Amino acid sequence: MFFKFKPTWMIEAIYQITPEQLQAQGIKAVLTDLDNTLIAWNNPDGTEELRQWLAIMKEAKIPVIVVSNNNHERVSKALANFDLDFEARALKPLSVGIKRAQKKLDLKASEIILVGDQIMTDIRGANGAGIRNVLVKPIVNSDAWNTKVNRFLEKKIMKHLKKKDPEMIWQGELK
Ligand SMILES: [Mg+2]
Repeated sequence: MFFKFKPTWMIEAIYQITPEQLQAQGIKAVLTDLDNTLIAWNNPDGTEELRQWLAIMKEAKIPVIVVSNNNHERVSKALANFDLDFEARALKPLSVGIKRAQKKLDLKASEIILVGDQIMTDIRGANGAGIRNVLVKPIVNSDAWNTKVNRFLEKKIMKHLKKKDPEMIWQGELK
C-alpha cells in the first residue's frame, strides 16, 4: 500500500518547475496545494518568487489551479492578491477536489500534475486520481498542529519508500 504515497517526482520547490519541463512531459496544467507549497502557512502574503513563477506559467498559457483542503473563505482570502483559480474543501487524500479541477480544465489525467508538500494528502490524492505528482519541500519547517501528526507518519513512509527505491532523491527539475 505504500506505493500509493510515492511521488512521481521530488523537486525542492514549485518555483523550479518550468513550462519547458512540463511541455516535455505532455503536461498542460498544474494543480497545486496551497499551504507550504505555494505560500508559507504563517506568511500568507507569498513571495516575489511565487509572483514570478505564476507570471511565467501565465505567459506559457499553463493554467494553475489551487486545490486545497481548507475552506472557501480561507483559500479565497489567502489568494486575494493572486489571480488564481481554486478548489477549496478538496478532501485530499480523496480525489474529489482534484477531479473537480480536472473537469474544469477539461484535460486528461495524463495532461495534469499536482504539486504538494504532503505525501499523505497531496501525493496520495493525486495517485488515487491517476495524476502524476511532485512532492516539494515545505516552505517553512514549522507546521500547524494538525500537520505535525502527519509529518511523523510521513517520515516513516518516506523511509520505507526510499529503502525500496534508492533513486527517490530531491531533483532540480522534472525529467
Ligand atoms: Mg500543504
